[in-house]
Amino acid sequence: MTMKRSIVIKSFLLLGAALVFACVVSARKPLKTLIITGQNNHNWQVSHLVLKDILENSGLFSVDFMISPEKGQDLSNFLIDFTPYHLVVLDYNGDNWPEETMKRFENYAAKGGGIVVYHAADNSFPQWEEYNKICALGGWEGRNEHSGPYAYWSNGELIRDNSPGRGGSHGRQHEYMMIARNSEHPIVDGLPNRWSHAPDELYDRMRGPANIASLLYTAQSDTATGGSGREEPLVFTVNYGKARIFHTMLGHCGPTYENNPAMQCTGFQVTLLRGAEWAATGKVTQKVPKDFPTSTYITYRYDYKEALPEGVK
Ligand code: ZN
Repeated sequence: MTMKRSIVIKSFLLLGAALVFACVVSARKPLKTLIITGQNNHNWQVSHLVLKDILENSGLFSVDFMISPEKGQDLSNFLIDFTPYHLVVLDYNGDNWPEETMKRFENYAAKGGGIVVYHAADNSFPQWEEYNKICALGGWEGRNEHSGPYAYWSNGELIRDNSPGRGGSHGRQHEYMMIARNSEHPIVDGLPNRWSHAPDELYDRMRGPANIASLLYTAQSDTATGGSGREEPLVFTVNYGKARIFHTMLGHCGPTYENNPAMQCTGFQVTLLRGAEWAATGKVTQKVPKDFPTSTYITYRYDYKEALPEGVK
């Protein structure tokens, strides 16, 4: 072999090794995630830390925060740079963002950004048309028939109902059954069709543009617990241009990090993680964990970590 040829082969080998190394590194590199919070009618001081821990404990995400000034304060400097992020998690329900931030968020979505709408984030910004399209459904803050139809599951299909009335309510917190309405979407592929959710609010009578792409889970809102009597859409993806949007209405935050059953529910955490990965990448690489709840029992991850099999540390 000539010296020259040997150098060429060695160079190819080195290049190959570098490519393999780059692939391994990029596969392990956490997805850059931004949680936006700082105002909420909920306990955001706890929820944003819990969301961060759920996401980071999976090893798939690295989380930054943008925390707004308090309600009623000047938000004109609350400018957000969305460009570094694979994923934006909305845990904000409060005063209007500056127009520049609104415009940047719309651009982030339009360019195919990944977004998670978490619980009361869908209460926010009732007058911001694009935001309401990003959520598909919202509630409270004066929402009514002008916000869009009600959406609920009836006789095997998603009904959009334009009848007048307020948008958004819920009965008392209770345990309820999550029912899959799509078993093929990567977010739910392999998960049981029915699983028991920890005590949580069950949002009902939500309304909005109702541009739901894939309805993943509904739950029956029982009038006995103060609900609507309808089968309510609670977890879904949203049809909004190139954006990948996962909306979960679950996960009402409890009083403390340790006393927080709706967010400690394994079902909430696993669907959040799968929805977040899908929103960020378009794929779900997570296996169905052994501790996932079933139709007959609820499971919890009190420390927001996947329970490891016995003997593994
Ligand atoms: Zn709530």
